[in-house]
Parts: sequence; structure tokens; C-alpha cells
Amino acid sequence: MEEAKNMTEFGADVFGDEAIRTYLSKDTAKKLQATIQDGKPLDPSIAGEVAHAIKKWAMDRGATHYTHWFLPMTGSTAEKHDSFLEMKDGEPIMAFSGKNLIVGEPDASSFPSGGIRSTFEARGYTAWDPTSPAFIKRHSNGATLCIPTAFCAYTGEALDKKTPLLRSMQALDKSLKRLMKLFGRPEAHTGCTLGAEQEYFLIDKKYWEKRPDLVLTGRTLFGAPSAKGQQLEDHYFGTIPDRVLSFMNDVERELWKLGIPAKTRHNEVAPAQFELAPMFEELNLATDHNMLVMDTLRNVAEKHGFKCLLHEKPYAGVNGSGKHNNWSVSYGGKNLLDPGSNPDENALFLTVLCAIIEAVDKHADLLRASVAGAGNDHRLGANEAPPAVISIYLGDQLADVIDRLEKGVGGRARKADTLKIGVDTLPALPKDATDRNRTSPFAFTGNKFEFRAPGSSVCCAGPTMVLNTIVAEAVDRIAGELEKSGTAGKAKAGEHTAAFHTALQKILQATLKAHSRIIFNGNGYEAGWLEEAAKRGLPNAPTTPDALSALDKKENRALFEKYGVMTSRELKSRHEIFIEEYATKIRIEGTCARDMASEMILPAVKAEYAETVAAFAAAERMGVSSGTNALMDDLVELGSGLDGLKAGLRKLDSALDDNEPSAVLAAMKALRTTVDALEHKVADKRWPLPKYRDMLFLY
Ligand code: ADP
Ligand code: MG
Repeated sequence: MEEAKNMTEFGADVFGDEAIRTYLSKDTAKKLQATIQDGKPLDPSIAGEVAHAIKKWAMDRGATHYTHWFLPMTGSTAEKHDSFLEMKDGEPIMAFSGKNLIVGEPDASSFPSGGIRSTFEARGYTAWDPTSPAFIKRHSNGATLCIPTAFCAYTGEALDKKTPLLRSMQALDKSLKRLMKLFGRPEAHTGCTLGAEQEYFLIDKKYWEKRPDLVLTGRTLFGAPSAKGQQLEDHYFGTIPDRVLSFMNDVERELWKLGIPAKTRHNEVAPAQFELAPMFEELNLATDHNMLVMDTLRNVAEKHGFKCLLHEKPYAGVNGSGKHNNWSVSYGGKNLLDPGSNPDENALFLTVLCAIIEAVDKHADLLRASVAGAGNDHRLGANEAPPAVISIYLGDQLADVIDRLEKGVGGRARKADTLKIGVDTLPALPKDATDRNRTSPFAFTGNKFEFRAPGSSVCCAGPTMVLNTIVAEAVDRIAGELEKSGTAGKAKAGEHTAAFHTALQKILQATLKAHSRIIFNGNGYEAGWLEEAAKRGLPNAPTTPDALSALDKKENRALFEKYGVMTSRELKSRHEIFIEEYATKIRIEGTCARDMASEMILPAVKAEYAETVAAFAAAERMGVSSGTNALMDDLVELGSGLDGLKAGLRKLDSALDDNEPSAVLAAMKALRTTVDALEHKVADKRWPLPKYRDMLFLY
């Protein structure tokens, strides 16, 4: 009855509906629920009571401390704990005020701010985001109350990933309200939804400990391929080994306690690679939840003698890990990417779809930038993951619909191969798994888009914030055109005039004429696609520095400013932070590779060389001739390997001196080739690092 036990614990560590009902008065509970639903700031008149209730609830669950939990620009999560302990008239009490709940002032001078906050004005402040409920984080002998917050400078400028995400959701809400009014829909809430599929590797901790590269950089900087890798494709969806399954079960138990609806688990393509997928949730919550998923995977792994690798490319030569962001948008609870079943619903679906096509085509550079990073560079375009060129996959049927819409109809003339908005009904679009193109970075999958370019370690806030903003702009533009046409406004849903539909048809046709180049239903792994994409004028940014330059473009600054998502200063600070982060990561990798090669590999090769020299000399002394040719061969190979190693180290050293990331990467790559070849020439017992064949097979 293990599963049933998990079930009763679902959400037990979340201050959600049940806790609110139990710990708050009816009146206050109602006010708090309204705040949560509208995403408005907490009513100060109830803050005291809410704080008291949360504290009581948390202490009942063993919490002694609280923290404002936030998503700093480092890409991970941050927490600074305070205990509930206070002194009142010389007596210790456990206290937590409304103010403690609503704002925090962590001395956060060491978080990257990209120049927004200088150290003399180091304080940022954190503000409770009531749309993401408080939760309890447990460790082996205690618990902490975590309050999800946004993190800003005193000027109000964002220092985190959540603030722009929340702003982008507001922007999309505003644009959609404008459009939905024209479609005669009653005013309602916009909802963004996200289901983040998380890929990861497990490695036995005893190997991890012996690999400074895994410890310091998260990926192996050296390592010859294992004789068996993923060639047999026997791992994907294979039987999950017992040891891994019990790890997964523990992970799920922890996640369910946190109210995170972990749903699917399976082996991935590479050996020792796995995936966890939750059911989709509201975007902001799903983003926080994915951060907790990554945390939980790492923590629970320790208990099972594993390490969980969330790096995009821990091993060369086998698949890397991604994080598919399944994203959709709803209005009044109805999914706008569900094509619907009548011409009116179809018209709305096609409008939103065309807006997304326009958005992705116009701002492919920003989407690419949102998934840029040192780790993901090894994955994008590596024939296992979507290429670094952004394109949209619609599937044959929908592509055909879009094609017929683009061809359009003029006046009353209707050709059989055209589609008339408001009249024609879309064919049912099957959600057929076989129809899915795994090579596309941005694919329509029946009732949502799946953004597959994000890497496994990314914080979902970045890519989805961009998506929301660019779609907000396109929806806004289309709504503006519709308004100008003067054909919309009074009709209720489903009762639009022919004039409205004609105007809409024209607008969507023009949109597709301008932007359908972004649609590509072919195989993204084929070399021909890159040429074709270049012909179509689609941007291709193979490396992080190329990709990040999008953040420095005038039109992109204007876009984020216009939709109130980021000021130019905020965007500039992010650009600086990401460039710096990239350079620092490469520098750490380069230094680590140098240290490992000189302190571990070089001595091993020298020892092998010395042993061979000694054997050869001994044979000569004894006048033995058999075997000396082989020994001489080995000596030459080892000797030239040694020379190559030394030369490679000198090259890497000078690249590190110049501090030029691309030169460091090139020198690391060359050094790796030398080291990996030597791995086969040195006795297994002497090789100082666990090998791929050890690390990749868990059973
Ligand atoms: P797969 O892509 O592996 O075939 P599914 O299509 O079933 O799997 O779903 C993948 C993810 O997409 C799941 O996390 C699921 O909850 C999520 N998802 C489904 N519908 C939506 C939606 N409307 N909005 C966002 N995510 C969704
Ligand atoms: Mg998927």
C-alpha cells in the first residue's frame, strides 16, 4: 500500500487550501484565497493573522526556521534562514509577524546583479508571491518554512527570475483581454500552464567522488567512450532497475508531500539517464515546482548512494539531458491551444496559433538566448537535441490547415484547397505520438507547444518569460488590426458577422505570409536543414555568446520595455550576468581540465612509460629479443602521448592566461583527444579516473 500512503500525504507540506481552512478564520481564509486567485499583494489588515497561522502550521510540522525562498540570477534557488525565536521581556518566544511574511531584507550583496546594485547599497528585498504557496522543506533532523518570494533591489528593479516572469504573465493577460473582447468572450483570467519534463543522469556516488570534473563542473572533461554506449537503444523505456526505482519512489513521495504532481517516470535514451514528468500546472507554480524537483532529485540521490547529474551533457558520445517545457495559455479556464470543435472556436485557435507563429519567427533570437548556457552548447545541434536554429513543427495536418489559410480566399470565390475562417471546421487533429517530430525545438503537440531547446538545468522562468512576452506582442498587434477593421466588438461569441471573419482572415493571411518561413516539419537533424534555414533567413546561433547578443539589440530592449517585463537596465544587467557566468564556467572547466591532466593523468602515463622503459632495458640486458619490438612500439606510443599531453597542457595554460572562452574550449577539446587516446594505452589499474563503462552502467 505504498502508493496509497503517498496519496494521503499529497500536499501535506504545503500551506494550501486545506491548511488555510484549518488554520484561518473563515473571513481571513476568503480574503487570502481571493489574493491568491487574483495574484494581488496581500491585504495588510490580514497579514498578521495569516503569518500567525502559517507559523503555527509550520511548527506543527516541526519547522523551527523560516526563509524567503527565491530564484536569484544564479539559476538556482536561494534561502537565508531565520529562526522563529525572539525574546520578549527576557523570555524566548516563537514569533512570526505579518511583516516577516510579506517582506524580507536579505543582505544579498553577493548575488549577481549585473551592475544594478552596488555593494554599498547591498540590500535587496524579497516580497511574498502569494500565488505560490508556502511550503516546508525537510532535512534529516528538522524542517524550514519556505515562503516563495520575488527578489528586487530597493529601486524596484528585478534581481531574480520570478519578477520578470510574473510581469510577462501580466503582459500576456493584458493583450489577451484585448483580443478576447473582440471575440465577444466575457472578461476572464488568463492562465499560462507549464509541464516541465525533467531529464537527468544518476551515477554511483563512489565514482562521482573520484572525478574532480564531475564534482566541480558537473560534466566529464575526459573519458574515452565505453565499448557499449547507447548503440543498442536498449535503455529507453527499459525495465527500471530496482535500485533506481526505489530512488524514484522516494523522490515521488517527497514531491507529493510538496504538492508536486509527479506523474511519469522512465528510462531515457542514454544509459543511466532517466526522466520525470509532472502533470502541468499554472506557470509560476510549475516553475517553482521544477526548482524543487531538481532539489529533490539531488537530495534524495544522496540517500541512495547516487549523485544526480542535471548538467546538459555529463558524458560525451551519449545523449545529453533536456527539459521540455510544455506550454499553453488559457482564458477563463479554456485552453486556447485546443483547436475546439466549431468554426468560432477554430477561428480563435487559429488566431492564437498565428500569433505564436509570428512571435516565434520575429523573436527566434530571444528564444534561443533564453536557453543559452555553457552546458546547453554541447547539446543543441549535437544530433540528439534540437538544432540551435529555432523553428516550429506543426505536424502534417495542422501544417496543411495553415497552408490553406495562407492561400486564402478572395471575395466569394472559394477554392477547394482553401480554408475560410468562420465557415470551415478544422479536421480533428489527432494527438498521435507517432506524429511527433523529436527533432524540432518548438513543436505543437495537440493542445500545447513543447519547447524542447531548454537544457536540463535551466530555470523555466527564463524561456517561458520570453515566450509570454513575444506572444503578448503578437496578440496585441493582431488585436490592434482587428480593432482598426471596425468589424468587431458587439457580437457575442459564435455570432460574428461575415465582415469580422473576412477581416480576421485577411489579418491572419498577412501574418502567415510574413512569418510562415519559421514552420519546418522536416527532420531537424539533417544537414540540409541548416542550409535551408539560412536561405529562409532564420538566425543560427551555435554558441552562447552568439545567442546572448540578442539581449543587446535595440528592438529587443524596446519590446521588453513596451510590455513592462524588463527595463533596458534590467535587460542589460541580465546580459552582463549571463556573459560573465558563461566565461566563468568555461574558466572553471579549463582550470579543472588542466589540473586533472597534470596532477592525475600525466603521472599515470609517466609511470606506465617508466615501467615499459624498465622492462625494455631489462630484456636488452638479458639479451632477450622476443617481446622487445612490442615494448618498443608501446614506448613510442606512450612517449608521443606524453609529448602530446605536455604540448596540450601548455596550450591550455596559455588559453587560460588569455582568458578567451573559445580558445579555452578549443584547447580543452584537443587535450581531451590526447587523454582519451592514452586511456587505452595505460593499464586499467593505473588509470586514475573511473571510466565511462564504470559510470554509465548502474546494474
Ligand atoms: P510526451 O510529450 O512525453 O508524449 P505528454 O504529451 O503526455 O507527454 O505530456 C507532456 C507534458 O505536457 C506533461 O507534463 C503534461 O502535463 C503537459 N501538458 C499537457 N497538457 C498541457 C497544457 N495544456 N499545458 C501545459 N502542459 C501540458
Ligand atoms: Mg514530451
